[in-house]
Amino acid sequence: MHSNNTATTQTALGLADRAVLAARTMRDKGIGEFTRRHDTPEQWNRWARRARVARNVAAALQMPADSVTVTDDPDRQYRTRNGNVPGDLITVTDPATARQWRLLTDFTGPGESWFVLDRCPGCEAEVPVVRIACLADLGDYLDPDSDVVPADEARDASLHEADCVLALPN
Ligand SMILES: [Zn+2]
Repeated sequence: MHSNNTATTQTALGLADRAVLAARTMRDKGIGEFTRRHDTPEQWNRWARRARVARNVAAALQMPADSVTVTDDPDRQYRTRNGNVPGDLITVTDPATARQWRLLTDFTGPGESWFVLDRCPGCEAEVPVVRIACLADLGDYLDPDSDVVPADEARDASLHEADCVLALPN
């Protein structure tokens, strides 16, 4: 007899219910990219590309896919054939603690590695401190017992306050 099967199907949401919930969450948050994603091929491409970025980051950090969002980076633009475009600001929200992490694409390894944004210990400016590609990389950065070396990109003088000892001249 299989009479117990209904117990599990009633408690777990099926794909259709989870999909509708995900769409409603997007609309409730007023995420413009979601509502405009079908307006032009370019908007669809950006939407789909950012969905892939979120999947990659979530997989690398062993997090649920919906804990990662990718939005326009208000502070960084990149030059493309079609002019300057905002970079991707990747936000990971830990469902266990609500703590947020902000990452940037590492263009030396797109889709494979990212920079962690954090405060410079010297001047408090927000800088891309270390490259990460997996959960252990993040842990190595966070572990007080580790002596991980900041990325060269973290020491770019243009990112720091003028008198910061951690900045290297260009
Ligand atoms: Zn600094």
